[in-house]
Amino acid sequence: MTTEEKIKTLRNELREHNYNYYVLDNPTIEDYDFDIKLKELQALETAHPEFYDANSPTLRVGGEVTKNFDTIKHEYRMYSLDNSYSKEDLEDWENRIKKQVDGVVEFACELKYDGASMSLTYEEGTLVKAVTRGDGFQGDNVTTNIKTIKSVPLKLKGDFPPKFEIRGEIVLPFDGFIKMNEEREAAGEEPYRNPRNTASGSLKLQDSSEVARRPLECLMYSLVGEKLPVKTQMEGLKKATEWGFKVPPIAKLARSVDEVLKFVNYWDIHRHELPYETDGVVVKVNNLQQQEELGYTAKSPRWAMAYKFKAEQVSTVLNEITYQVGRTGAITPVANLEPVELAGTTVKRASLYNADQIEKLDIREGDTVYVEKGGEIIPKIIGVEFEERPANSTPTKYIEQCPECATALVRTEGDAKHYCPNEEGCPPQIIGRIQHFISRKAMDIEGLGGETVALLVENNLISNYADLYDLKVEQLLPLERMAQKSAENLVAGVAASKEVPFERVLFALGIRFVGETVAKKLAKHFKSIDVLMAATEEQLIAVDEIGERIAQSVVAFFTSEKSSDLFTEASKTGEINRKIVERLRNAGVQLQISEAELANQTDTLGGNIFVVSGVFAKVSRTELKKLIEDNGGKVSGSISGKTNYVVAGENMGPSKLAKAETLGISIISEDEFLTMVGL
Ligand code: AMP
Ligand code: ZN
Repeated sequence: MTTEEKIKTLRNELREHNYNYYVLDNPTIEDYDFDIKLKELQALETAHPEFYDANSPTLRVGGEVTKNFDTIKHEYRMYSLDNSYSKEDLEDWENRIKKQVDGVVEFACELKYDGASMSLTYEEGTLVKAVTRGDGFQGDNVTTNIKTIKSVPLKLKGDFPPKFEIRGEIVLPFDGFIKMNEEREAAGEEPYRNPRNTASGSLKLQDSSEVARRPLECLMYSLVGEKLPVKTQMEGLKKATEWGFKVPPIAKLARSVDEVLKFVNYWDIHRHELPYETDGVVVKVNNLQQQEELGYTAKSPRWAMAYKFKAEQVSTVLNEITYQVGRTGAITPVANLEPVELAGTTVKRASLYNADQIEKLDIREGDTVYVEKGGEIIPKIIGVEFEERPANSTPTKYIEQCPECATALVRTEGDAKHYCPNEEGCPPQIIGRIQHFISRKAMDIEGLGGETVALLVENNLISNYADLYDLKVEQLLPLERMAQKSAENLVAGVAASKEVPFERVLFALGIRFVGETVAKKLAKHFKSIDVLMAATEEQLIAVDEIGERIAQSVVAFFTSEKSSDLFTEASKTGEINRKIVERLRNAGVQLQISEAELANQTDTLGGNIFVVSGVFAKVSRTELKKLIEDNGGKVSGSISGKTNYVVAGENMGPSKLAKAETLGISIISEDEFLTMVGL
């Protein structure tokens, strides 16, 4: 086999495995074996840039950064849908249709997926562009981001037409949404409120590798174009499935409005078993010839109709508003409800988010409120039945003191939430921080769980995470349900955590907005806690992808200067954090990146900003970027006045080249770059 054939074979194999896994949900290969093949292909592609393919499965991991998404005019407008709410609405619609077209009218019934709509264009079986709906006439070109969604085929199979568009909905399935929120909460960030907004927000992320990490899916529902090889909507769905698209196998042909309603009623109940959100049914005239005769109104096709599910809503009494204190001190008001059945579960509590939300809806204790299952996960209160408000009701007065430690709450400009500033003395904050420190993605301390942390704090054995390293077996034995063996395991687990690499220690410290990824970036850039602690806001912002919000938070965490004669709360905290860091250092915790990693790092490139473009012969793009960073340079995704060098590989885009030339930026070859870093 020639190299070219080998590359082609690997691409086809990987494509097939992607398809089996993400479209059919039926993998036929171990993840491990898949990775091996992917690496093999990556290596071959790097060594043979002449066989570059913009749709290779190796490009699924993303990496390209888009600063501004181009606007693209839709060749075929993306319409809205009319809504119907009753059998009568549907019958009226059917009657209107029957006056306009001849012959039997049948309906294709589909679910209405709740996400972000997307139009994909394929030419000769290859994905050429992906555009958001925008205002229906024009949308944003999000092709690089969409290519990272594994259920979107980059190359089609079977008897596809030479050029067509296909429309679908980008959704974020529940389990992935929940997982993302867990990660955000671990970084002390507000969880996303619902999968739909998160899905549409994801499409506009600048860094496509970030999109690649999000478990998005694309569910397709219609073909658009000239001379399509299909006569009905149902055939279109079948063909799309054959060509490799993910089309939920849910659509059904209905011969009457009664049959449509059967479909609606069935899915009104069973939609809760689906892994993603739906908010209704879309009914379409099945025959495409009839669709064409019916045409469009100013806003929507006359041949289609949405039938919205009734949002699952119940009313119940709000007994009490209580307030929870999180690890970061953030206060969340909680509605304690008279228990009520909703979408198959009993709801007793609902989040009220923040003071503004309570004020906006004018929610008060004793009110009868409407509860809805938002995102089918977290119940939320959507309104108050004012008619039933008790006569003696008074407006909710938001708490001014922390419910756990009675400290006066603070609320800074631009923050929706109130905070308890008593970081050192507020029990849920103390416990929460230590629980975060020991968690799996942080120090991953074996033999110690969240409840034990609470127990240790309550028994005054620890009050911060540095205290963990002083714990002795004898101190633990008097605790409830603490046997000799578990005490020994705990102490051993703590000792073992001294080997955990710096980047995870940095994450474990629990600096607000410093999640796993940010911690990695900071560790890599600053290399040791000492350099990081000395960094100014400006120096932090200069690091790729570190914004003002993170920079301020890092500085505040370590700031210990006394501001004038006032010993402010913030400076007290900074002082304490620095002491804790010193104790971790004395305990032997890793506070700098390892020797091995350090050995590869230089300052040769002196902070110059590089843009990498094209395909390279000796190193891969990822390796090239790593070389830049390891040698003290910075990688940027797009060319601007700040760029110092463009490393140009083969196939560098002509527009990039022109831009670099106009701005007078040095364009260097791969070899020239390698010489710069002494390779
Ligand atoms: P609306 O935004 O309420 O006017 O509804 C129109 C939108 O519904 C379209 O832009 C699509 O994004 C979305 N949609 C979801 N599922 C379907 C489906 N099966 N068929 C057509 N449109 C759908
Ligand atoms: Zn408090």
